[in-house]
Amino acid sequence: MQQLELLANPSTAPDLRAIYAQLHDTLPWPRPIPPSESVRLKWKARHSRVLGSCRPKSELIKVNRIYQDERLHQELPDLMAHEMAHFIWPNHGPEFKAFLRRAGISSSYMHSRSDPSATLWLVLMGHEPDAYLWQCPACLAVRDTGYRVTASCGRCAPRWDRRYVLKRIRMNEITSPVRLTTLRPVQ
Ligand SMILES: [Zn+2]
Ligand SMILES: [Zn+2]
Repeated sequence: MQQLELLANPSTAPDLRAIYAQLHDTLPWPRPIPPSESVRLKWKARHSRVLGSCRPKSELIKVNRIYQDERLHQELPDLMAHEMAHFIWPNHGPEFKAFLRRAGISSSYMHSRSDPSATLWLVLMGHEPDAYLWQCPACLAVRDTGYRVTASCGRCAPRWDRRYVLKRIRMNEITSPVRLTTLRPVQ
């Protein structure tokens, strides 16, 4: 999933197992996935930069603590459905995405480069207003990396291009709607 900086509000943890059970029983899974009684569901360690993860062999799904923020409770089932689909498809291929689309999952939760919802972005900004991101000077798409990059924007050119080298920007300087880009390293 998206890699974005965060902290969490520990006050209202939603019931991950109830969400899993509901999705398990209602989405049109083409093959069996682990039942809600046996799957392992955990909150990620603090400061994780990953929104969610699934390890099919260990039947383990982890969810970022940022989803304990009440503003994101509504999006949590979409993230959970994404991670559950990895029990069937390890990657974000066409079948994976077709299934999520059929299941009515938001486009923000299709793959690791999906653009975050405005709400998710708002919550992230609130948690880490001073965090640095990297932004394309042309299309304004951003990329979250903790380290300095000399890469250029993957949305604007298929290979490294000096015109689109990403510039450092603070989280609270970003304007919605947020679009994510990919990195084209220097060649
Ligand atoms: Zn995924
Ligand atoms: Zn760009």
